Amino acid sequence: MAFDQSKQLFSDANNHLVGGVNSPVRAFKSVGGTPIFFESGEGAVVLSEDGDAYIDYVLSWGPLLLGHAHPKVVQAVCDAAAKGTSFGAPTARETELAKLVNTFYPSMEKVRFVNSGTEATMAAVRLARGATGRSLIVKCDGCYHGASDSLLVAAGSGAQTLGTPNSAGVLPEVAAKTIVVPYNDLSAMSTVFAEHGDDIAGLIIEPVAGNMGLIVPDASYISGLRELCDRHGALLIFDEVMCGFRVAQGGAQQLFNIVPDITCLGKVIGGGLPVAAYGGSATLMAHIAPEGSVYQAGTLSGNPLAMAAGITTLSLLSDSQAFKRVTESTTYLVEGIKAIIKVTNIPLCVQQCGSMWCLFFTPTLPQNLADVTHCDFNSFNIFYHKMLENGVYLAPSQYEANFMSLAHTEETLELTLRAISLSLEP
Ligand SMILES: *Cc1c(COP(=O)(O)O)cnc(C)c1O
Repeated sequence: MAFDQSKQLFSDANNHLVGGVNSPVRAFKSVGGTPIFFESGEGAVVLSEDGDAYIDYVLSWGPLLLGHAHPKVVQAVCDAAAKGTSFGAPTARETELAKLVNTFYPSMEKVRFVNSGTEATMAAVRLARGATGRSLIVKCDGCYHGASDSLLVAAGSGAQTLGTPNSAGVLPEVAAKTIVVPYNDLSAMSTVFAEHGDDIAGLIIEPVAGNMGLIVPDASYISGLRELCDRHGALLIFDEVMCGFRVAQGGAQQLFNIVPDITCLGKVIGGGLPVAAYGGSATLMAHIAPEGSVYQAGTLSGNPLAMAAGITTLSLLSDSQAFKRVTESTTYLVEGIKAIIKVTNIPLCVQQCGSMWCLFFTPTLPQNLADVTHCDFNSFNIFYHKMLENGVYLAPSQYEANFMSLAHTEETLELTLRAISLSLEP
């Protein structure tokens, strides 16, 4: 594969777009080389501008649980577009999608739709502060909650628990209102609550973490977080933007049987269009304007095209066989990978949760961010580029999870396993 066309397009893009992209991870900085420009996608396969086909496990970073260009989603979006693309006024579809979301997530009695996961988590944080009258937010190291100031925060050094900015432009005084603790470590979390409990507005977490590879915490950890929040009057925010609809039909809250106070959704609920949401009990959500005093708004929120894609996607996922089938495909692939690892004896392991999966270049499954940093990144990058040569498009970083879609057939999975075997050969 020559990538000539992608190289040309990337060079042109670099003259007009910052870094040639509109979201940093697309630039392939982590794995090196030129990002591939895509021309089209259908089902499990994407076609590059160079004319090469790839089996896709990025799936737009998770949203495309039905695969690319699902005919019913395409039809729904076209039908909606023909009737007007935006009104900035209420439409029936918004209520329809909210009802559907509620059938999957009973804890989301009331919902507010927004356009991105970043907006959803940013509003969730404001709601937690507005509803409790407290200022501190707790997050875990390695969890990604979008690009808002309060959440672009890294762990402070040494004994200092208050966070420091993870980006230029985030004020230290804003970052200091976010406490960062290691993932999957209940005693570290207990210590933070013992020290700051009365000031903590909310604890935000990816209840299955998909932004440091894929980490599935102990169920006792998640129930422990619920207890800590209850004991100290803090709100528990599940950021299920990525793991929603993927680790269980009703997300991690169903998987662990824990009811959060606020849930953030994104990715899958839009079926590939810009939709995200936050929601919780009717009483808590009554703090949001226009019912309450916590302000949040959006010109294109609840957009007809996006709602149509979301409704169609969730309707198709309402079939309980859908979740079962996509999980079975993932298990099939992951078991195949385990068999390959066994014969090659490479220090490699593979994690799965529902329709999410991740290969780690380390012998044992990481439990937190520090473990992931010990992976063999060089081997990952070599493997990554061999997989491209063998026609498989994986997430371009050891820190990212891969996804499965309902469009991945058994033949697709067999081709993928063959590519993995070839790519792991010395
Ligand atoms: C992707 C993601 C976000 C941010 O969503 P955007 O739509 O990219 O703004 C937030 N939280 C989690 C867990 C995510 O995976």
